[in-house]
Amino acid sequence: MSETAFCYHCRTHHPKEEMRLIDTKAGKRWRCIRSIEATKKGRLEREAYGRQVTAMNKAEAQRKARLVLNGRTATTPP
Ligand SMILES: [Zn+2]
Repeated sequence: MSETAFCYHCRTHHPKEEMRLIDTKAGKRWRCIRSIEATKKGRLEREAYGRQVTAMNKAEAQRKARLVLNGRTATTPP
């Protein structure tokens, strides 16, 4: 039987081989690698999503700016 430790993230016990001792405000606590990786991946995905939204907003702003510009000179509606 492998030794287990309480995972503060999942609130359950996992084998220690699948866990890391993490420094938290409350002291050193065990957390499973799976949840650490999931959080890391989630953060990267959120960052990627944030960049995507920023790029989209920028494109949208440029499109609107062009529309306004075109609206001034266009003689026919779109
Ligand atoms: Zn866990």
